[in-house]
Amino acid sequence: MRNWMSLQADFGDFQYRRHVYLFALKMSFVAVILSGFIIALTIPPLGFLGLLPVTLSHAIGFGAILSWLVGGTVSGMLSLAAGFTMHELTLSRAEFEKLSRTDTLSGLLNRRAFTEALDKAEDNASLVIFDVDRFKAINDRFGHACGDAVITAVSSILTSAFDEMCVVARLGGEEFGVIVGGELLESRMELIEGVRTRIASGVIAADGHDIRITVSGGVADLVAGRSKQMVYASADRALYLAKALGRNRVVHEREGLHHAWHGLAENGPDAETRAKGSDNVMQAYGI
Ligand code: GH3
Ligand code: MG
Ligand code: MG
Repeated sequence: MRNWMSLQADFGDFQYRRHVYLFALKMSFVAVILSGFIIALTIPPLGFLGLLPVTLSHAIGFGAILSWLVGGTVSGMLSLAAGFTMHELTLSRAEFEKLSRTDTLSGLLNRRAFTEALDKAEDNASLVIFDVDRFKAINDRFGHACGDAVITAVSSILTSAFDEMCVVARLGGEEFGVIVGGELLESRMELIEGVRTRIASGVIAADGHDIRITVSGGVADLVAGRSKQMVYASADRALYLAKALGRNRVVHEREGLHHAWHGLAENGPDAETRAKGSDNVMQAYGI
């Protein structure tokens, strides 16, 4: 019976009010048909035993009318009430699911939703992790509220720069993840580099301050047979290298290996940072 009921009323069916009315109508008909069966089974034997106060044909007629009036109406009303409760529950569940996947400050997807999207992502795409450079200094100098405004502004830039084929999320703090689709790696890198330049050349107005920021990015490719954890770890290492190389740059994982072998070389900042960064990169790549 329980299985039968759940077949009649799947939770997802109650998303629209129209479906609630259809459900109530269906349940009314079911009640009428069931009453019809009961009448057909009980009235003839009662008539045969002479226990009916009216003639058999009248009893069947009254029974049919009552099954429609009482069975159909009561069942319809009860189903309407149950249907609208399910409708409310479906809406709150959808709202709750949306909230549990959304970052409250930026309105972007949160880390949980991003991890799910990454797990489902197809090949021929890249993962980029962006991190705002020296963000702590922005908080310290302009205050936490300005820091929040910077996070919101970066979120808007990312949303407008990457189309709906891409997945943009705030991974936490001032770190963002994007799954960038597109056949050619070159065009994906161009797009990512364009976003970095756009952020570096813009000014963010927050609380009466004009704030200039830069971001660093680490990129790794989604390739058939490669685990998503490996891709994430590689993008993270590339980001680490971008920071070590002086920030405000995007590093692809392949470059990471190149730098690890050749040291941070001429691209790096001062000699001391280069040496330290080079050690860090070698360590990160296990060389
Ligand atoms: P780096 O260039 O190496 O990334 O330096 P950084 O200062 O950006 O990095 P660090 O990880 O030291 O600082 C990140 C700071 O972000 C520390 C934390 O207080 C701040 N933060 C984290 N979440 C939020 C937030 O939601 N709002 C604001 N305003 N600050 C946040
Ligand atoms: Mg940072
Ligand atoms: Mg960070």
